Amino acid sequence: MKTTRAYASQSRGKTPAPWQYEAREPRADDVEIEILYCGICHTDIHFVDDDWGMTQYPVVPGHEIVGRVLSVGSEVKRFKKGDIVGVGCLVDSCRECACCEKGLEQYCASTVFTYNGVDRHDGRPTYGGYSERMVVSDRFVLRIPGGLDPAASAPLLCAGITTYSPLKFAGVKRGERVGVVGMGGLGHMGIKFAKALGAEVTLFTRSESKVAEAKRNGADHVVISTDEGQMERAAGSLNYILDTVPNEHDFNPYINCLAVDGKYLLVGQLTPINPPIQAISLIMGRRSLMGSVIGGLPETQEMLDFCAEHGIVCDIEMLDIRDIGKAYERIKRSDVRYRFVIDMATIRA
Ligand SMILES: [Zn+2]
Ligand SMILES: [Zn+2]
Repeated sequence: MKTTRAYASQSRGKTPAPWQYEAREPRADDVEIEILYCGICHTDIHFVDDDWGMTQYPVVPGHEIVGRVLSVGSEVKRFKKGDIVGVGCLVDSCRECACCEKGLEQYCASTVFTYNGVDRHDGRPTYGGYSERMVVSDRFVLRIPGGLDPAASAPLLCAGITTYSPLKFAGVKRGERVGVVGMGGLGHMGIKFAKALGAEVTLFTRSESKVAEAKRNGADHVVISTDEGQMERAAGSLNYILDTVPNEHDFNPYINCLAVDGKYLLVGQLTPINPPIQAISLIMGRRSLMGSVIGGLPETQEMLDFCAEHGIVCDIEMLDIRDIGKAYERIKRSDVRYRFVIDMATIRA
């Protein structure tokens, strides 16, 4: 067992602070990783604040992890010491159900999350990426392609795959029209992926201040969603809408922007939909509503390779881990463009 420095939240709402735990000895299929960078996802803050009533403290958040392989177990063939690798939201699953067999580990009923989970072998809690080191089974480790900046790749492991997977599954093709609602950590990635898939991309935002940046990220058009005239002109025009907004909002004006057979792809909001969706607007246009969460391991690797091929990474702000409290405050105010990434060298300083 190796004593491992980490940042943990000790009770509800407590900002993560220095802590240490004993990392497990690598098993035959394990990869031991020195963590270099970890993105901060809004989910981390939900767990620290126990917003979903399931946090086990102490919790070490972080599931957008990039690091360097320190050692591998005797059965590991895909990785070797020195490789740059990634770990996302999952570190294990049952490995034998229909979902696992199809590489859809994210929909397995026995997924083990990267933090606040329980290891299936030793029953110990899992701790996330706000840490100097982690030990993960090789099936759940991803290869970061050589062309990608390791720090700016970290958020691909959650924000990236969360937006790539539904666009791919829905079947976005060259020349089709994709709308993206919201331009935060998820939305800015959605624009980049839709554009790289060959779509004509429209961003919906309430904020005039985001117009220039949306275009720089690849949006062809920007619709100010509070402007009724602009929303009316967009009616019936889009084949897909990727809705990344995390808090409660009215879906109806956006559904109205879908063409016949349009698909509404939901990745942000987890709470009940309010106000209710007008069923008639789905029925009269044969429109459909679909949800999606992260992606399985094969698709996450595919996404990373796609990013290398198309030169896609996240827009990030680098962070000293000692400033984690300030970063959380800024994320709560949506004041980050577009993802904080912790430079994990600062945990050793
Ligand atoms: Zn996340
Ligand atoms: Zn399974």
